[in-house]
Amino acid sequence: MSDNQRYFGKYGGRYIPEVLHPAFEELEKAYEDIKEDRSFWDELDELYKDYIGRPTPLYYAENVSKHFGGAQIYFKMEGNAHTGAHKINNAVGQALLAKKMGKKRIIAETGAGQHGLATAAAAAKMGMECEVFMGEVDIARQHPNVFGMRLFGATVTPVTDGTKTLTDAVNAALKNWTERVEDTHYLLGSALGPHPYPSMVRDFQSVIGKEIKEQLFEKIQRLPDSCIACVGGGSNSIGMFNAFLDESVQLIGVEAGGEGANSKRHAIRMSGQGRLGIVQAYKSFFLQDDNGSLLPTHSISAGLDYAGIGPQLAYLNEQNRVEFTSATDAEVLDAVAFTAKMEGLIPALESSHALAEAYKRAATLSKDHVMVVNISGRGDKDMFITAPFFDGEDWLAFLKNEIIRLEKEV
Ligand SMILES: *Cc1c(COP(=O)(O)O)cnc(C)c1O
Repeated sequence: MSDNQRYFGKYGGRYIPEVLHPAFEELEKAYEDIKEDRSFWDELDELYKDYIGRPTPLYYAENVSKHFGGAQIYFKMEGNAHTGAHKINNAVGQALLAKKMGKKRIIAETGAGQHGLATAAAAAKMGMECEVFMGEVDIARQHPNVFGMRLFGATVTPVTDGTKTLTDAVNAALKNWTERVEDTHYLLGSALGPHPYPSMVRDFQSVIGKEIKEQLFEKIQRLPDSCIACVGGGSNSIGMFNAFLDESVQLIGVEAGGEGANSKRHAIRMSGQGRLGIVQAYKSFFLQDDNGSLLPTHSISAGLDYAGIGPQLAYLNEQNRVEFTSATDAEVLDAVAFTAKMEGLIPALESSHALAEAYKRAATLSKDHVMVVNISGRGDKDMFITAPFFDGEDWLAFLKNEIIRLEKEV
């Protein structure tokens, strides 16, 4: 493969240590092979359908559309997918690829635990061994996901280096891979990292946009005017946008505005805040200090709380093909409450960034403007963050009672 195919413009590439070259060569070849292999995609389609529950619905949000009196708003319901978010599309795709490669073992890194959970589920389904590397700090604060991964049979290995969070977990997973290349596949969770991950993860997630195109055509026989998605590493957004890159459809990515763009407590990599650099083996925009070290980020949603962004999105921004904006924690909580009350569904905090942007725009648009918002996940997982906020005293009383009850039982 020529070098320029590993890049999107000047972004992407593969900046890895020598010891990992064989592993990446093998993975890249396997990925090139399955791209053309009809039987692989047929098998994956079966898993998408029967295991994940695809296609996820494209739902006309009639109540919110009428409320704003502008755009017709549709929700792509990725939260209806098995394990509650789009992450499973990529996890199952890569697990199937690993199995075809003859691998017996899957490793992954995880921050908040959502990717670890999806990976552990996919490994269990495919009958493969699974080890998830997770910072010690994240293990302590994300216990429900740790419990879930263990239930799926995965080993959760604490990482005690550095800040004991996601960045260190990535390094630990890469190190483990160098030691176990023969039998192990490293299942990376977003459309970033060294080639071929950004392209491969996009391809497994592009089912989102493909379905939107078909479903909207069936409903109203046309393309959308705009598509909006939240952007962490970039997998749900590029998965949605990919089908529309060559069409005249406006594409909007929403980053985590945290406590505000000027607060230093956010995860806004685009809009001039991030710097071009090479970190964790790929070239893109990162929130980093003068020495090139990653800066701490903040978001109410764990899934958007990351200092880097996928290289294809950085390129599409430079080409003015994807427009970037952000939503603050406060705007996101409002969007959760509003959506729950109006439509009877609870979106994930991540996805609610996209909703906040949709609601800012809706009233200003004409009634024939068709907008699709990617609801990347459902909000059940966020209960420990949203309940104290919406239900303070009563939630605290419930937790206290639970502790008393459990101390008697355990
Ligand atoms: C992980 C996650 C995200 C962010 O990751 P991307 O790779 O940017 O899609 C968004 N939404 C949900 C529900 C997530 O779990």
